[in-house]
Amino acid sequence: MMGSFVASSTSPSRKRVVLLGATGSIGENTLRVIAAHPDRLELVGVAARANWEKLAAIARRFGVRQVGLFDPAAVAAARAHPQAFPDGTRLVEGLAGLTELARLPEADTVLVAVVGTTGLEPALATLAAGKDLALASKEILVLAGKFVMAEARRHRARLLPVDSEHNAVFQCLEGHRHAAVRRVVLTASGGAFRDWPAERLARVTPADALRHPNWAMGPKVTVDSATLANKGLELIEAQWLFGLRADQCAAVLHPQSIVHCLVEFADGAMLAQLCPPSMTFPIQHALLHPDRAPGVDSALDLSRLLELEFRPVDEGRFPLLRLARETMRSGGVAPAIFNAANEVAVAAFLDGQIPFLAIPRVVEHTLGAITNFEPEDLPAVIAADIEARHRAQAHLTHHRL
Ligand code: MG
Repeated sequence: MMGSFVASSTSPSRKRVVLLGATGSIGENTLRVIAAHPDRLELVGVAARANWEKLAAIARRFGVRQVGLFDPAAVAAARAHPQAFPDGTRLVEGLAGLTELARLPEADTVLVAVVGTTGLEPALATLAAGKDLALASKEILVLAGKFVMAEARRHRARLLPVDSEHNAVFQCLEGHRHAAVRRVVLTASGGAFRDWPAERLARVTPADALRHPNWAMGPKVTVDSATLANKGLELIEAQWLFGLRADQCAAVLHPQSIVHCLVEFADGAMLAQLCPPSMTFPIQHALLHPDRAPGVDSALDLSRLLELEFRPVDEGRFPLLRLARETMRSGGVAPAIFNAANEVAVAAFLDGQIPFLAIPRVVEHTLGAITNFEPEDLPAVIAADIEARHRAQAHLTHHRL
């Protein structure tokens, strides 16, 4: 008999999962994983921002009676259609409702896939309850990494990364000592305009930005992957998740999106994690950890030609990556300011208010307009986030960008 690498449970009991952000693309993939493993995973709570009809369909399909909606209008619509939900459904509302679901006594794991920073409070509640936090919303660590990681340590709760690159790093680091890691390299597909000449970038439309070559994702993330702001946010996230210095986190262009990370060790050896670009792989890894089971999507087919290409990132072409790396070196609330200003600028671009190339200008202006400081508590970071949103909005409203 072969020895095992890690202790794994011999008879896996069902893990009970709460899914916050059930109607988005991460949510849909999570439901595919849960549906494929009824013997190992059970959905016990679901929440969405506003799409109550889709949420009701999910609740019926999985027999879930703990349901949450963030948006007040959606709550009202859902209350007007109780027959859409399973009998005995308890509907909770707003941020308090999502946070309550995160604390559900029957849940083992809470997967937070809420867009933006709305998931912060539910994520902290998950850790405080000592449950596993499967984290897909990267903004949470960018905004409050210091406090989220402290909360995880305090309650000895596990933080399982769901973002493909961080999940890949997590897999490569298992069984290795922290001191043995030289650096972590996250791969970036380069997004929709990877091969576009600079002149063409000036005329990019929201529709162009939403055509991602490898991944099907929401509009905000798709724009962020075209500007590489997404990779910048991921480097900041990696810094917190794995306790690394800014200079230990790097990015490399890898157009095929098959290698999700490279971890370089002290001796120069590198480990990589490979799988097709489908979120079901990292989601399943996080939900079943430390067990493994057959995946939802097919594995890589090595009977066919598989070319893997790596190119250095030109930060002149992707100024948001350069700015993100600067915020990592500065620390304090700089990463939070970067994130907030980027959210405002991307929303303005998607709304047709500013050109694509103005997104980094709004972010750079906002970073320069606010004095950085080391936050003592969460309200201090939230205040910096709010100020950054005001400054970014004022800048793009009062200037022709
Ligand atoms: Mg990613």
